[in-house]
Amino acid sequence: EQDLQRLGLEDALTGLPNRRRLGDLLVSRLNGLRAGEAMDLALIDIDALKSINDALGAEGGDRLLQQFSQRLTALARGGVVGRIGGDEFVILRSTAGGEHTAWVDELRQVLTKPFEIGDQALHLALSIGSCRAPEDGVDADVLMQRLESALYAAKRHGRNTDMRFQPALDAGGDLQLGLANDLRVAIESQGQLQLHYQCQHDASTGKVASVEALLRWKHPLRGAISPAEFVPLAERHGLMLRLGNWVLREAVQQQASWRRAGHRLCIWVNVSALQLIQGGFEASLAGLLMEYDVPASSIGLELTESVLLDERAGDVSRRLAALRARGHQIAVDDFGTGYSSLAYLKDLPVDKLKLDRAFIRSLPGERADAAITMAVLAMAKGLGMEMIAEGVETAEQREYLVSNGCGWIQGFYFSRPAPAGEVIERLNGYEAGNLAIKAA
Ligand code: C2E
Ligand code: CA
Ligand code: CA
Repeated sequence: EQDLQRLGLEDALTGLPNRRRLGDLLVSRLNGLRAGEAMDLALIDIDALKSINDALGAEGGDRLLQQFSQRLTALARGGVVGRIGGDEFVILRSTAGGEHTAWVDELRQVLTKPFEIGDQALHLALSIGSCRAPEDGVDADVLMQRLESALYAAKRHGRNTDMRFQPALDAGGDLQLGLANDLRVAIESQGQLQLHYQCQHDASTGKVASVEALLRWKHPLRGAISPAEFVPLAERHGLMLRLGNWVLREAVQQQASWRRAGHRLCIWVNVSALQLIQGGFEASLAGLLMEYDVPASSIGLELTESVLLDERAGDVSRRLAALRARGHQIAVDDFGTGYSSLAYLKDLPVDKLKLDRAFIRSLPGERADAAITMAVLAMAKGLGMEMIAEGVETAEQREYLVSNGCGWIQGFYFSRPAPAGEVIERLNGYEAGNLAIKAA
């Protein structure tokens, strides 16, 4: 009976109080706080624990966590320590007037000294969120929430940093959390999410051969929210897989209906890193193509450089080769803004480079951008890859790109993203000659 009780309240690996037990201890410590006393709290997160585990093996990883807990317990000096998640620990202490920052510095200093695992000396990177009662709150739940917003802010500032709670964080945090819940609802309900399609034009004739699918979210209260805002939100809140699957299904379904109507337009879909990392991407894509009877060659995949180089996605080169063998085309999105290494282009099987709009913006006047654009065009040609420029807004930009051999153009100059129905209307218009005039 005692064991059972212990199991419910203690973390089995480290013997530390778990989240529930820690909550109780925090309440009683807060109640015991004397006048003039304060309590320091810190939430410590081990960065990249997963890759450390992969490197050490499960047993090594366990030993690391145990040593880490021991060191943390030694630091507590009568305070409380708990493990509230795989890589998340909480430590708190009462203080009569010690400095908060100095305490956090001490934690970091002691916990980042190397750990000896087998014959390896391991250095950890830590993200720390901290706060102090009663200044930052007196309620246990509120304090825990504030620790989490502080930790989250620390992580946003880059790994291996610490951040004390500030009221501004709370406002932002609640807003984000609220929005994430709304997004969860949007994915499950009908009509809030939509795909718009932006045409990709032959640079010299203006003819449309393909479109890019761009996600739109119409929030019931806030109106349209940009994907630049909610895609990162979805990634942080574990919604990206569902969102990505929604996009894939919608795009494949649209492709099926266009094909039935006799339209032949390749649809390019944006794929985020997490979709590739979380696995099952290839299988669910293949399943959808089968379900809607759509050929792989009519669904292209846009991936950014950072996705292509993300080690967590496994052997990306092999996965891309397999996707291409099935008939998909692959494009590198936002080309030129991610890594400066070009070496990967030699090894990765891609069909198309999509030059980022940052370079296009100041064409042709800005010499540096013009030089980069020309160099990338020449390189793509040499590598046998196609080029598409995005964000083309003016006739001058288009002319410059055409004269330097860029095959494809996407941008407001030719057309803005629009719902599927409008795209087809426009296409019919183009065929009637309107576009030829613009392109000539
Ligand atoms: P992106 O993939 O680089 O998409 C191109 C963005 O440039 C789109 O913004 C598009 O509306 C905008 N754009 C197109 N032509 C022009 C132009 O001439 N001038 C300017 N200034 N902008 C132009 P949008 O739709 O707001 O999308 C922003 C980003 O959100 C996308 O950037 C992409 O990274 C992400 N995103 C959108 N849809 C999806 C999706 O379904 N899945 C994933 N993972 N990401 C998506
Ligand atoms: Ca894109
Ligand atoms: Ca892009």
